[in-house]
Amino acid sequence: MTTLIINGKQIAEQLRADLAGAARSLKDSTGVVPHLAAVLVGDDPASAVYVRNKQIACHKAGFKSTLHRFPATTSQAELLELVHSLNAAADVHGILVQLPLPKGIDATTVLDTVDPAKDVDGFHPENVGLMQQGRPRFLPCTPAGVMHMLRVSGITTSGKHAVVIGRSDIVGKPMAALLAQKGADATVTLCHSRTPDIAVFSRQADILVAAVGIPLYVKAHMVKPGAVIIDVGINRLGDRLVGDVDYAQVAPVVGAISPVPGGVGPMTIAKLLKNTLQAARATQPIETLNIGPLAETHRGD
Ligand code: NAD
Repeated sequence: MTTLIINGKQIAEQLRADLAGAARSLKDSTGVVPHLAAVLVGDDPASAVYVRNKQIACHKAGFKSTLHRFPATTSQAELLELVHSLNAAADVHGILVQLPLPKGIDATTVLDTVDPAKDVDGFHPENVGLMQQGRPRFLPCTPAGVMHMLRVSGITTSGKHAVVIGRSDIVGKPMAALLAQKGADATVTLCHSRTPDIAVFSRQADILVAAVGIPLYVKAHMVKPGAVIIDVGINRLGDRLVGDVDYAQVAPVVGAISPVPGGVGPMTIAKLLKNTLQAARATQPIETLNIGPLAETHRGD
C-alpha cells in the first residue's frame, strides 16, 4: 500500500502565499497592514522559537508584527496592563499571548482579558462559544489547520469515525468539535488520560488525531490499516523533534499520515496569519474591501 504523506509545509506555504496576496489587496484598498502583537513572558526557549517563527511568517506575508517581551518576574497586573493597551491600540489587529505563562500568572485571566475581536488564537470564551455553535469568529489555529490539511488532501470527514486523543482546550476539544460540526459531519470519539484502553478506540478510527504530548505514543498496533493519521504532537526526543505518533512503525500500515516536523506545525502558523488578516479586515467598512479568494473564511476549515 502507498501511504499518502500529508505535506503540511507545502500546504501552509500555499495558504501563506494566498494570505500575502490578500494582505496586499487590503493595503491597496484601505491602507491597512494586518498587525499581530505577540506577548512573550519568561525565557522558555521553545516559546521563544514559536514566537520567532510566527513573526517570520508575518513578515514574509507582508504583515506587521511586534514583540512585547517580559521577564519571568513580571506581575500579572503588568501583563494585564499591556493587554489592555493592545486592546485599545487601533493599529493592532491580533494579540497573541504565548503559552505557557510563568507560575504566578493566571493564564485564564490573561486570555480572558484579550479583546475577543483581536483574539486570533481563538481562545477567548466568547470565541470558543461561537465556534461551538458553528458560527465562528476565529477558528482555533491548530484544529483549523488540521481541517484545512484534510480538505486539500482530498480526505473527506463526512460519515467517518474520527478519534481524537487529547482533550486540551487548545487542541483536543476544539478538534473534536470541528470534526463533528455540520459540514464536516464525522462521528467523533474523544479519548484522554482517563480512557482505560485507548487502542480499543484508536483501532476503530478512520481518522486518528493524536494530541497527547507523549513522544511516539501511537504505535502500529493502535491504528486501523489504511486509516488517516494526523500527528499534532511536537516533542523533543534527544536532539530530534518527534510527534505523538511512532512514524516509522505507523506510516507503512496507514493510508495517509502527517509527519513531524512538516505537518501540523506550519499549518498552525498559517491559520494564525489568516485570523490576523480577518481581524484586520473586520475593522474596515465592507465596501472598502476588495475581497479576494480568502473571502470564504469559514467554509468548515
Ligand atoms: P496538553 O498537555 O494540554 O493535553 C494533552 C492531552 O492528552 C490531555 O487532554 C490528556 O488528557 C491527554 N493525555 C495525556 N496522557 C495521556 C495518555 N497516556 N493517554 C491518553 N491521553 C493522554 O497538550 P496540548 O496543548 O493539547 O498539546 C498536545 C501535543 O500537541 C503536544 O505535543 C504539543 O506540543 C503539541 N502541539 C502542537 C501544536 C502544533 O501546532 N503542531 C499546537 C499545539 C500543541
